[in-house]
Amino acid sequence: MAHYDAIFIGAGHNALAGAVHLAKRGWKVGLFETADRPGGAVKTLELTAPGFRHDLAAMNLSLFAGSAFNRVYGPELARNGLEFAPVQDCFASVFPGGRWVGVSTDLATTVARIRTFSEKDSQTWESLVKAFPGRAELILSILGNPMKMYALARILFSLLRKAGLSGTLELGRFLLSSPRAWLDETFESDEVKALLGAWGMHLDFAPDIAGGAVFPYLEGMANQSFGMVLGKGGADTMIKALAAMVEAHGGKVECNARVERVLTDGGRATGVVLADGRTIEARRAVIATVAPRALAGLLPRGSGDERFDKKIRDFRHAPGTMMVHLAVNTLPDWTASELKRFAYVHVAPSLDVMAKAYQEAKAGLLPVEPVVVVGQPTAIDPSRAPAGKHILWLQARVVPAEIKGDAAGVIDARDWEAVRETYADRVIALIERYAPGLSASIIERKVMSPLDLERGNANLVGGDQICGSHHLAQNFLFRPVTGAAGWNTPVRNFHLAGAATWPGAGVGAGSGYMLARQLAGG
Ligand SMILES: Cc1cc2nc3c(=O)[nH]c(=O)nc-3n(C[C@H](O)[C@H](O)[C@H](O)COP(=O)(O)OP(=O)(O)OC[C@H]3O[C@@H](n4cnc5c(N)ncnc54)[C@H](O)[C@@H]3O)c2cc1C
Repeated sequence: MAHYDAIFIGAGHNALAGAVHLAKRGWKVGLFETADRPGGAVKTLELTAPGFRHDLAAMNLSLFAGSAFNRVYGPELARNGLEFAPVQDCFASVFPGGRWVGVSTDLATTVARIRTFSEKDSQTWESLVKAFPGRAELILSILGNPMKMYALARILFSLLRKAGLSGTLELGRFLLSSPRAWLDETFESDEVKALLGAWGMHLDFAPDIAGGAVFPYLEGMANQSFGMVLGKGGADTMIKALAAMVEAHGGKVECNARVERVLTDGGRATGVVLADGRTIEARRAVIATVAPRALAGLLPRGSGDERFDKKIRDFRHAPGTMMVHLAVNTLPDWTASELKRFAYVHVAPSLDVMAKAYQEAKAGLLPVEPVVVVGQPTAIDPSRAPAGKHILWLQARVVPAEIKGDAAGVIDARDWEAVRETYADRVIALIERYAPGLSASIIERKVMSPLDLERGNANLVGGDQICGSHHLAQNFLFRPVTGAAGWNTPVRNFHLAGAATWPGAGVGAGSGYMLARQLAGG
């Protein structure tokens, strides 16, 4: 029987990062992945036509570039082929009538753009940017640490020492605020509020959801201060480098290998059974980087703790995403040509449009006007398409997994198989309002409904791109469920990591790396 010290279920970036660290500490690691390649939600594929390399899901690698994992392993990752494509013109929003505002790494440029909407907001932006390093240190001390009582007590103590009682309370209030509450308190221009509020929609923080203010703030300030990064040639540059490192340190990444069940003995995980019937032994740990609902299959007799199993069953997912990948002859002909330089253009013209789209999707309705993130990776990295051509990465945030109706009253079908292309037409028609002629430029398109996304990766339940709502009752100490924020389960040696667990979604490798450090003792 094959045996390892640690078995990872799944080979997404969290598992790969955790495996690299354990392998470097001398553990023998094996990763078993159901798909035909590693990467999970980070894959680059020729989805439309030969030579057009699309990031199937994650495109923005800033979280990885800024991660604790990359700080330690960056040089080795680079030696294994990881290359970033830095972005100076990071994100922008377009508004009816052709106006726009965007954030570029040159502060004076961003400030001048904001000034065209509000002199006061331009000054606020400058002072926020100035205060960012100090504030970021406080926020990242929370986001970058395990959610353990001792760690929290240490953070609180250090916060009180650095920021005093009023500063600590102010930070606590900010972390509980909705995007709209913070944006209304901070800015006067509706357009500047929309520019930042769009970042809440990348998670499931519509403008009025408590706990969401931190995301628009961090994205706005981090993009302004450090820029954004994409993967050179595709986001999979990161996966290839991680997988190469695992194997260089004696680990194994096996694809087309679905884990069906976790083996237990006396309340302790001892290995896994693969779908092809093979049994693999794990001496020290089995680490599942799966959506919590998958635990029911992996532990068919339960975890031995009914309260834990119930909380796992109650784990809530966020609304879905629809992806439209386009191979195009030219970048969109935005009403302002500068917009062609940006990595992201948000078609999310107001907080109210975002709040309405979110509410419609939550109610099972296809939004009349979805929020659309237009990713323009070839504006930064032309190597992803044949010379002179481009790809577009369009994301409709948010859509329901189960369709109960169309908020516009136009689409009758309720089945994504029938709705997929029609709704993609609505997304493209919406972009046409701001960039006329897009349809005529399309060479080929590949549309992925929320259910297609789930079919490709079971962790994307109902197309939920963040593997579980990050609302306050399911975040911090409560992620994935109360009592399990430290990646342990009631089954000894069996751990749950990945986007469903603290510190949540995104390509920051947080849970994989923090858990590996915990297991290896540093
Ligand atoms: C459309 C989309 C766009 C996104 N854009 C961004 C972005 O631009 N930037 C960003 O930071 N984040 C983005 N995200 C979020 C980010 O990609 C994810 O949060 C992150 O990749 C999750 O990584 P993970 O390792 O936890 O899990 P995953 O990447 O989901 O990997 C888990 C792996 O486990 C495998 N698996 C599951 N069950 C089994 C089993 N029983 N046996 C074997 N294997 C199994 C799956 O096949 C999968 O490969 C996006 C996500 C989506 C879906």
